[in-house]
Amino acid sequence: MKLIRTFLKGGVFTPDNTRSARDVATWNAMIPARSVVPLLQHEGEPARCVVERGDRVDEGALIGAAHGYQSARVHAPIPGVVSELTQLTLPDGRESEAVVIELDGEFRQLGRVLEPRDWRGLKNDRIQEQIFDAGVVGLAGDGVPSHVKYSPPSTGAVQYLILNGCEPEPYLSNDYRLLRERPEHVVEALEILIRLLAPKRTVIALGGHTRSAAGGIRRAVAASRARIQLHRFAGKYPQGDEHVLVRSVTNRSVRGASPVSEAGSMVVNVATAVAVYEAVVFGKPVVERIVTVAGGAITRPGNLKVRIGASIGDLIEECEGFREPPHKVVVGGPMRGSTVTDLSQPVTKLTTGILALTEAEVQAVPQTPCIRCGRCTRACPMGLEPVLLYQLNAQRRNRAITEAGLFDCTECGCCSFICPAGIALAEDLKSAKSRLRSEERDGRARS
Ligand code: SF4
Ligand code: SF4
Repeated sequence: MKLIRTFLKGGVFTPDNTRSARDVATWNAMIPARSVVPLLQHEGEPARCVVERGDRVDEGALIGAAHGYQSARVHAPIPGVVSELTQLTLPDGRESEAVVIELDGEFRQLGRVLEPRDWRGLKNDRIQEQIFDAGVVGLAGDGVPSHVKYSPPSTGAVQYLILNGCEPEPYLSNDYRLLRERPEHVVEALEILIRLLAPKRTVIALGGHTRSAAGGIRRAVAASRARIQLHRFAGKYPQGDEHVLVRSVTNRSVRGASPVSEAGSMVVNVATAVAVYEAVVFGKPVVERIVTVAGGAITRPGNLKVRIGASIGDLIEECEGFREPPHKVVVGGPMRGSTVTDLSQPVTKLTTGILALTEAEVQAVPQTPCIRCGRCTRACPMGLEPVLLYQLNAQRRNRAITEAGLFDCTECGCCSFICPAGIALAEDLKSAKSRLRSEERDGRARS
């Protein structure tokens, strides 16, 4: 196994605020008495509800069937009775139908040792079917259904299969805990994906604090039959961004607006890999995930294994609540996450973290005019000029802003983070993209 160190062009060094949560072993959160399960927990079309009010469901029963483009199945995280079918707004702003289940009856799987299946004798289409059946999606937040993303390509199309072991955001440490606690499952997941995708090379990329999980990973790789390289990167944000990672590993650039498959690469995040392993080896649907609960306002930060549909507020309570009133609560990471005010919102497959940040952590700088320091351009990992994009957006110069690469922006937030004038560049560019997309839709509708 090869160890390589490389460094990221652009990006920012963020304070290491992971320690308090990452050094504690993952613990099981309480089983929620009520689970609110959105049917849209992925990219693409929402799942179609297959239960009615009053239905009794077992743990792991299908409650949402995949329906339409890039849809994914949704399962009951707890056994019980469907008490309500409701509508809610997710932290990312999308509207979703949700199934509310009140806990009742027995768990059939919880606490039991599941019998592993020998997947090596299965054909690829059967393996894929199991990934689809389990409702596995990109658990780092992209939500792309895994049966779509990891469908066997034409021969030789995948040059690199990369396990993204660099945390996607500061504060988060759930990937690190999985790498530390379940390295052999991560490696077996890679063996499954190697079977499906037949890549020329397979790489495990570790970055920042996850580099200290290298020992266990190295042993797990040595015990497997797979040929896997280990690459280690500096702890610079956003090393865990797919585009940035692919460039670092392969030396091939791919524009932010294009999928990394254009560079012959396929990236899998750690939590998704473990979900693939559980789907294929145990036939287990995605009904729980590991969530980092952290931030200066949390009394007892940690990583919790949580049933989908548990409320954000319950998780904060499990971490002994707030030690001081938070300035804001964020779902996801501090750079790309969404601020929430309603703590009854549920954990979904895409909830990587819940952060309660203090005023000092938010470090809000009052906005002043641009001083032309160029820091945003130096920090942009996609090689863009954020300040230029910002100015073009202010002037509503749609063609110019598109030509200047607006859609290559991956919304990493480095430019906003580094700007001494406190200009919310990334947020502005994100809304510019939505504006242009909706203007294009309106234009199409009129023509
Ligand atoms: S948010 Fe966009 S423009 Fe800003 S640094 Fe990231 S990729 Fe570049
Ligand atoms: S970092 Fe801020 S102040 Fe500096 S050039 Fe960019 S927008 Fe202007």
